[in-house]
Amino acid sequence: MKRIAMYALALWMAVLTVYAQPEQVFVPDLGQAFPFLGERVVEPPDDVRLDALDAAAYGIPASGEVPQPAYLLMEEAPTQTPVYLIDSGKPGPVVYVLAGTHGDERAGWYAATMLKGMRISAGKLYVLPQANKPGSEAVRRTVQGSLDLNRAYPGHSQGDAAMQLAHAIVRDIEKAQPVVVLDLHEAAVFAPGRDFLGNKVIYTTLDGIEDLFFALLTAFEEGTLGAVPFGFVSPGVADSLNAVLPEVAGIPVLTVETFRGYPLSRRVQDQVDIVLACLRFYGMMEE
Ligand SMILES: [Zn+2]
Repeated sequence: MKRIAMYALALWMAVLTVYAQPEQVFVPDLGQAFPFLGERVVEPPDDVRLDALDAAAYGIPASGEVPQPAYLLMEEAPTQTPVYLIDSGKPGPVVYVLAGTHGDERAGWYAATMLKGMRISAGKLYVLPQANKPGSEAVRRTVQGSLDLNRAYPGHSQGDAAMQLAHAIVRDIEKAQPVVVLDLHEAAVFAPGRDFLGNKVIYTTLDGIEDLFFALLTAFEEGTLGAVPFGFVSPGVADSLNAVLPEVAGIPVLTVETFRGYPLSRRVQDQVDIVLACLRFYGMMEE
């Protein structure tokens, strides 16, 4: 019995050793290999600090003012989170940028943290930098426990913490009536038989954003947007904002997914560049 236990222990140690060593895996979509632990890529060491983000260095035109929240979602709840509204004071489209749904996908909410202080020349820009504030502050995916905000849409005012938050976000977007929602995420998993989401833009519907889609597609293919060309994937996963919002509110969502195998600074830059490309497309930025 003791011997069996020792064999089992030795076998378990061997398994741990094999799995604890990152393995170089070639990712065809990106044309290069990255270190993986199992199906998850190992992020390179941080080359950006949240408290030292410099919007100008990322090409974001600054408003020159300290951004102040326009209002709070889920006021007084543990999930309370600020929404910023940049109003150019001139007619034009409304765009809604949401980030930090999954708190461990930092590039998105780092980018949105800078975008909330930007200047636009037409229309209105809503920025919700930390949709899941407890998750982003703890750098974890969920709102709490196993509650995933992006599997809780359209949410419910009487549901669990993720459902209540999802409900508040849907209500807020419906009030804003944007032409498009840009939902900033990141991908870390590469597994056979599953859609690879690294450096992808996800859509469930292109109704109303056909021209934006073609403008982004052209820029990706010409190599003028994204450090490595992005691709498109459809549809969004069930119960996600991407899948549900078009159905319940008739508003299309583009979900931007950067790949966590790249350095953080580059992922943040790609997130920023894709948002700015959309704003430029809608004539919301001075050329
Ligand atoms: Zn995500």
